[in-house]
Amino acid sequence: MKSFLIRSVITRLLGVLIVVAVLHFSSIAKARNAAQPKREVHALWAHPPAVGKTPEAIKQFVDQCKRANIDTIVILVKGSAGEIYWQSKRFPQAIAAGYADFDFLGTLVKESHAQGIKVDAWLCDFIESPKGAAYREHPEWAQLNPDGTTTASEKLGHTRPYDYVWMCPSRRPGYVDQWLIPMFEEVAKNYQVDSVHHDYVRYPGDVAPDSYCFCDYCLAHFPQFAMLSYQSRPDERYRVKFAQPRIEANWWSDPTMLPGDWDKMDRRDKADFILNGRTIPGGPPDMRYFFYEYRQEQIKNYVRELATHIRSLPRKVEISAAVFKNPILSSRFIGQHWNEWTDWIDVYMPMTYRSHFAGSFESYLDHLTEVTERQVEWVHHKRPIYAGIATTYLYREELQPVEDMRERLNELKALAADDAQARAEKAKAIKANFEALKPHLTEVAPQVSSEFQPLVDAVVANNGAGATPANVDALIARVSRFRSDLPPGYFQPDKLLKSIEAARKAHPEGIAIFAAGNLKIEKLWPTLETAFKR
Ligand SMILES: [Zn+2]
Repeated sequence: MKSFLIRSVITRLLGVLIVVAVLHFSSIAKARNAAQPKREVHALWAHPPAVGKTPEAIKQFVDQCKRANIDTIVILVKGSAGEIYWQSKRFPQAIAAGYADFDFLGTLVKESHAQGIKVDAWLCDFIESPKGAAYREHPEWAQLNPDGTTTASEKLGHTRPYDYVWMCPSRRPGYVDQWLIPMFEEVAKNYQVDSVHHDYVRYPGDVAPDSYCFCDYCLAHFPQFAMLSYQSRPDERYRVKFAQPRIEANWWSDPTMLPGDWDKMDRRDKADFILNGRTIPGGPPDMRYFFYEYRQEQIKNYVRELATHIRSLPRKVEISAAVFKNPILSSRFIGQHWNEWTDWIDVYMPMTYRSHFAGSFESYLDHLTEVTERQVEWVHHKRPIYAGIATTYLYREELQPVEDMRERLNELKALAADDAQARAEKAKAIKANFEALKPHLTEVAPQVSSEFQPLVDAVVANNGAGATPANVDALIARVSRFRSDLPPGYFQPDKLLKSIEAARKAHPEGIAIFAAGNLKIEKLWPTLETAFKR
């Protein structure tokens, strides 16, 4: 009896000990899990030519992605000229040349999923080409400036034509509900993509931020958006009531803000009122505040509308977006107030490319950390941020002499044969460009450097007198070949590695690299494999 009692006490004690031990170890394990950060996601933007157009090429591409621990391939399926890369039944007229007979997207999805990689279908939203199917069929869907012309009338710099037409995000029925959303839906329905990706989800900002959209639809809807007057009793007009000496303090007294002759005003005058008008006569010229609000609202509405469609599909498809680095500034300049979209965007990939930063490479590293930290705050940690890094722009210093040389050569080509002084100046500049390029090039690829030398010598000989069309063309061809197939090491791994580390300091949920094709040209795949090693 006693021994039984003792045994049972011992058994119980043992049981308690085991339970305590299990609890103890499991709490250690839990603590470890909590301390272990979530696995960093790796995304890669890829253009179809970088992926290839045969099943074998696509498989090779996916294998390469796997070796670099890429988790998501963000594949371009609607380009900036409006061309699409899936076998569309609804929009066959928009399919890019050569992609109608081959199931590019389906093959990529199959190969990627076989390797455990997700596919994010990337569509350029509001940018189209004047030659694209959307604009050809529906010119009335385009955004218009105060002169009534499209963005194709703009210039890049002073002379370069801007070969894009931006479509109006507001008009219904229009581009959004008749073209863009149906395209997204078709991709999400007909392909097992894991997510769809917004790009150019904004107004044009690089050419004329304050000039769009003044199309008929927007001009008709802007006054209603801000309720600048009542639609009921439209003929009753009210003046500001001066209860306070500061004129703008009387805004609430319900003055009629729309000019009495609004309906008779032409596009230019209406646009001028929207941009430079005063909400209160005699007050500050503040009407453009409502213009910026209107534009943010149009883009936001579209983002919400797309999410409603995508989320009503039977299968879960996420939504990601490429956005400018600062949502506060971009809300003013391009209507892209992206931190307000957290209900409809699952993942943000801000384009924190060095091309959007002004300073040295070292400043970029600090600013990249800082702006990524702010982005995480701007979305209040509600959605993941994948810090976007574009490899090419990291190497501004390495590329500058090459780009400069190419530009001088083209200028030289355009010069008259007897313009000796200008030719001598160009020759001098080209010589200086090569001198700048040479030390690093000779270090990493002496063979390439010695191929360049005689070609440069020939062009710059005798103060540019040696720049015969044949000599100039030969050097231009060598520069092009160099630029499209850089010698290994010309872009040193260090810059990419340091940039990724700088982004990591801000603890974003992921890193997104732009772009696959450049990695190949720049010989940076091995560097990415190192950076993304797990
Ligand atoms: Zn419009």
